Amino acid sequence: MSGTAEVAVFGGTGGPARTFTYGVPDGISLVPGHLVRVPLGSRTSAGVVIAIDVPAPAAGLRNADALADPTPVLRAHQLELARWIAKTYRCALADAVRAMVPPGVVRRARTPVRTRQRARRIPAELARSEDDAVRDAEATAAQGSALGSIERSLTAGGAPFLLHGVTGSGKTEVYLRAAATTLERGRGVIVLVPEIALTTQVVARFVARFGERVALLHSALSEGERLDEWRRVLAGEADVVVGSRSALFAPLAHPGLIVVDEEQEPSYKQESDPRYHAVDTALALGRIAGATVILGSATPRVTTWHAARGGELTPVELPVRVSDLALPPTTIVDLRLELKAGNRSTLSKALRLALERTIARGEQAILYLNRRGYATAVLCRDCGYVVACPACDIPFAYHAAGPPGWTTGDLLCHRCGRHGSVPERCPHCGGERIRHLGVGTQRVEDDVRAAVPSARILRLDRDAVRRKGAHAAAFELMRSGRAQVIVGTQMVAKGFDLPGVTLVGVVNADTLLNLPDHTAAERTFQLLTQVLGRSGRGSRGGRGILQTYLPEHYAVRAAAAHDYAAFAEAELAARKRFGHPPFGRLVLLQTAAKQQATVDRRADALAAALREAARGDAEVLGPAPAFAAKKAGTYRAQVVLRGARPEAALDRVEAGPRWSVDVDPVTLLG
Ligand code: ADP
Ligand code: ZN
Repeated sequence: MSGTAEVAVFGGTGGPARTFTYGVPDGISLVPGHLVRVPLGSRTSAGVVIAIDVPAPAAGLRNADALADPTPVLRAHQLELARWIAKTYRCALADAVRAMVPPGVVRRARTPVRTRQRARRIPAELARSEDDAVRDAEATAAQGSALGSIERSLTAGGAPFLLHGVTGSGKTEVYLRAAATTLERGRGVIVLVPEIALTTQVVARFVARFGERVALLHSALSEGERLDEWRRVLAGEADVVVGSRSALFAPLAHPGLIVVDEEQEPSYKQESDPRYHAVDTALALGRIAGATVILGSATPRVTTWHAARGGELTPVELPVRVSDLALPPTTIVDLRLELKAGNRSTLSKALRLALERTIARGEQAILYLNRRGYATAVLCRDCGYVVACPACDIPFAYHAAGPPGWTTGDLLCHRCGRHGSVPERCPHCGGERIRHLGVGTQRVEDDVRAAVPSARILRLDRDAVRRKGAHAAAFELMRSGRAQVIVGTQMVAKGFDLPGVTLVGVVNADTLLNLPDHTAAERTFQLLTQVLGRSGRGSRGGRGILQTYLPEHYAVRAAAAHDYAAFAEAELAARKRFGHPPFGRLVLLQTAAKQQATVDRRADALAAALREAARGDAEVLGPAPAFAAKKAGTYRAQVVLRGARPEAALDRVEAGPRWSVDVDPVTLLG
């Protein structure tokens, strides 16, 4: 034996990862980052060396089996980042290390294959390139000054920036040019985008500009594609990494620039261990590697905006669209008045008229609402009985025409996916007056069809995009002018750059606002801004209509006025009153069990222990039922810590393996 090694061992592909100390057999020389095969119980597992020559017991130490790869799979800066993740998000170091190694690498280490000599498997997105006419265009004045300070930071050890600019203001072009400068200086680039499927245009522009140097890393790639892309980065063949959250862990030798596009997107938070937030982790990587970090957004989170005002990041603004197109003037419609006037349609008079005129002029419209299906609930008019999912205790949603494979008129649980059927008689009182209530995309589609019978109408929601390629197909039908109206959920808010769209109507602007979550107003403002931004992208201009029951709410008013600063000031004032981020930090602790009594007992005990231990570092909120209090037959409860140092309370009280611990959660509605 020649020394010892501490190894992060990955038991199975699921299950917890743990660190163990092994002896190093003679003839092998190990460094941190090496992938090794080690004995674990009676089996052989894969693991990554995280430290060498660690103190170990004199006897009983097992030896590592073999080196799985002579090249270390993790670089020194990555191991340091893993330590930061483990400490910040309170997970095992081995879990953080595993998140950095593609599953294919681990699998091959466990059962080595003799062939690492096949043709490269190329992700489809890399084949999609665009012509790159803007490459040599002169930067706008705003881009020029943004690039000036960003490029200065590249030679000065890196710095974090908030690049704040409306869609079309030239942010992506700033990323591209800063990336080119970074490469010239011999360092690598990481670009994070929230959802690859909806951001293919961004990917295509990077491919157009940097060609073979681009590697794509996201979870929807096949294991083989992902492995090949990752290997190209490790080998130094690719040094521009574009991908989702986990692309942050690409093994670049010297990252010099990290871009996070649409920094406000909640998908940057990983919802399983390690529960890291890719934005904060990107900032940490920037500090560790001496890299510049650009967070880009039209609607940054107010926490980020606040940090930029406080000097933690340098704010740079791109105030206008490159094309000089104005943002669409937007009208707020008070739905309470529509009801009073006897209008029971999902379309207000103003929206119906605007839709008719738009179609008559040969233009196009997008209608947005955030609920799929036909109705939100089915209930008995006589006794009020609501047909609910037995496993989740929430109302079944009524779908008039389900996705392929469904029978018409089915009920669906939006929490667990269980199906039900509409009863002919009320199971409670026997009455026959079973009706549906509330509004979903299917119902709006019907109302639009009645208003503009000559138009071709598309529906785009999670049910519709279950068919592969449906998103792209809908885009193509609109782009070519064969369809005139899209009715959809969030999916219409992103990536739909259609110059023919001159009207955006939001059917219900306030449905998210009443949810018990600290980000409810912010998500509302962001979504409304994004969807309104789909209108008026061509020479004919455009307009927006927001229907709401809360016309005075600051999130609705600021979105209609395209006034980010007004929103941020009002939102920060509200956050301050409650001690919500950035004025306090949150930790969400959740537990689940088959019996309500078990969950209650466990939650009461933890909340009491935390109250005892918190000592002014944090308030303890709860215990309370989780937002999804019952899910697929299990009961769920939560405790929330809120304060300046919630982690200090957790240092004194061990939550234990039955609890999930989410530091800096993006929502409390889990
Ligand atoms: P954003 O990322 O903020 O939405 P983009 O970088 O995509 O903005 O720019 C919007 C449009 O303007 C794109 O079509 C882009 O090619 C073009 N564009 C960006 N910068 C310039 C420039 N300096 N000169 C000419 N066109 C530009
Ligand atoms: Zn259910």
